[in-house]
Amino acid sequence: MPTLLMPAQFSRLINIDNEQNINIKDRDYFIESFYNHRLFVSSVFLGRGFGNDAIIAMSAPFYTDLQHTTTAGIVEGSLDLSHFSHIDQNNEYTDDESVVMVDEQNQIIYSSEKLGLTALSVFDFTVNDGVYRTSLELLNIEHPDSIVPEYIYAHKTLENGWIVYILKEFSPLLKLAEEQMFSSFLMLLISLLCTFYISRKLSALLTVPLEVVANQFSTSATGGTKVPSIDENSPKEVFNLYQRLAASKQQLIDNQVELEETVAKRTEELENANRKLKELVDRDSLTGLFNRRYAEGKFNEMLDFCMRSEQALTVVVLDLDLFKEVNDNYGHLAGDECLRIFSQLLQKYFKRDIDIVARYGGEEFLLILPLSNALHIKHHLNSFREAVSEQKFTSPEDKREFSVTVSIGAITANADYANDLDKWIKVADDNLYQAKQDGRNRTIIDIITE
Ligand code: GH3
Ligand code: MG
Ligand code: MG
Repeated sequence: MPTLLMPAQFSRLINIDNEQNINIKDRDYFIESFYNHRLFVSSVFLGRGFGNDAIIAMSAPFYTDLQHTTTAGIVEGSLDLSHFSHIDQNNEYTDDESVVMVDEQNQIIYSSEKLGLTALSVFDFTVNDGVYRTSLELLNIEHPDSIVPEYIYAHKTLENGWIVYILKEFSPLLKLAEEQMFSSFLMLLISLLCTFYISRKLSALLTVPLEVVANQFSTSATGGTKVPSIDENSPKEVFNLYQRLAASKQQLIDNQVELEETVAKRTEELENANRKLKELVDRDSLTGLFNRRYAEGKFNEMLDFCMRSEQALTVVVLDLDLFKEVNDNYGHLAGDECLRIFSQLLQKYFKRDIDIVARYGGEEFLLILPLSNALHIKHHLNSFREAVSEQKFTSPEDKREFSVTVSIGAITANADYANDLDKWIKVADDNLYQAKQDGRNRTIIDIITE
């Protein structure tokens, strides 16, 4: 704004617009031009009359004479630096960015309003080289010691030594980075969840059919529970596996059935062999009667049985008469045949399940007859003896007929008579001896009753 200093009031500034008078005689631009006759450009200072804005004054003297000896006044103009705000506000980044301009003494000539800095104060800031690394430098104005940067900035030194700083708040950038990090994290989480979901689906594709296969082949699955089936719609590998397992299972079942049949057959054969072996052990091979060992072993059992039921027991010893002569006269084979037929007769006459009929040795036989009726036993023994004497035998070699007789010694007594078989046999033997002595083909029995 051009101003004019009048001659009569050489130290008064007259504002042409509003005729306001301001005393300017102490101002450098007045002194330099009016007294020192110089063209003058001031440094930046705070103006007085125009709203305390930072301004630059430019002045020049003017004279009353052509020789330029008498100064009539000065012409002064000022640049109002607050007008930088127009440039600042026209900046398309004005919302994000702030501008600070300082002169060569680092005094603030202009600063964006939102920074709240005072014009012509020293631009005081610290460069933040803490934890954050950026391509541009970081600085703090309000909190010089904070590790959190307040602004990121760029600066440019002008030809006249002024410096222009362009500042951008750092926290929104930080926020942006945080948001980017958060969205990256979110994406990662979603990817993880997707991966988890897909892998579950994939594994279900395999594990469910495998479970079905396992259930179908487990022994517990043979119960009533319904198991989902495997068919061509199942995964190919599982279906193949299922078919192979099914085939193996069937083969196993077939083998098992075959094995069970074989085992059953072998067991039966073994049992039969055992039975035969036992019979061979217990029986006499020529006659098929029980042998002496078996009869002696059974005696105590029979005795106990009679003891419990308080019944009598009979022990009989039989000896074929003059048997040596049979062998001598008709041959050994005839003797054997005679022994066989004699044995069959014995079994016919003493056929109760509890009777023990045994070949005692050679042509001697032993009977153990539990639950004997003392009144009938002698008669029964004699019936047998007579049946023997009436029996016709034929020599296998020359078909000659012959007959034999038998002598019988016996004892019938209550079971408590004696525990020892020998004592019973001793009495029976004595009676047999007596029967032989008395002429053979007879029965002698002792019936001992209390
Ligand atoms: P006794 O009336 O006194 O009993 O006369 P015995 O001839 O029967 O008696 P002895 O003891 O002298 O003879 C028994 C004969 O029985 C002798 C033996 O050759 C015959 N003997 C024994 N065991 C068998 C056998 O298994 N087979 C044949 N063929 N003969 C047998
Ligand atoms: Mg004998
Ligand atoms: Mg004899």
